[in-house]
Amino acid sequence: MPSEDVALDMIRSSIILLLSEKPLHGYGIMKEVEERIGRPVNPSLLYPFLKQLEKNGLVRSTKRPVGQRPKVVYTLTATGKELAARIYKRIASMISMTIEPNLSVCFHCGCKIYEGGYREAIAGREKIFCCAHCAQAYKNELSSAAHSLKIEKGKT
Ligand SMILES: [Zn+2]
Repeated sequence: MPSEDVALDMIRSSIILLLSEKPLHGYGIMKEVEERIGRPVNPSLLYPFLKQLEKNGLVRSTKRPVGQRPKVVYTLTATGKELAARIYKRIASMISMTIEPNLSVCFHCGCKIYEGGYREAIAGREKIFCCAHCAQAYKNELSSAAHSLKIEKGKT
């Protein structure tokens, strides 16, 4: 996909996500998008896009008084909200795909460690844990496992 398409897709996605937060008029959308992603939205992109969304039943436009005169305010419909939820999911999985390779996993509980974590050398090998408590729990389990092994041996 050419990068221009990706950028457009990002702007379109952010318009839908903005509207999932609150109803906005066209100028409000332009202002918020620029604030958030640092790129202005061209009105010649925005208004046809909103029209297209409305035609597809994703957005409803109503006239509401904003300041001195009524302005057209855009609200997401139930279908539009479903689309917004799918976009959220897509973005979340894109973010985790980018972060995951750099993640460590706690040796004890298996939770993902985004930063920091707790390292301790156990039996001569450094292991990473999410926290000191998890390291302690791991050592407790290890020693009780060793203990029960001894008991097993004692039985035979
Ligand atoms: Zn842990």
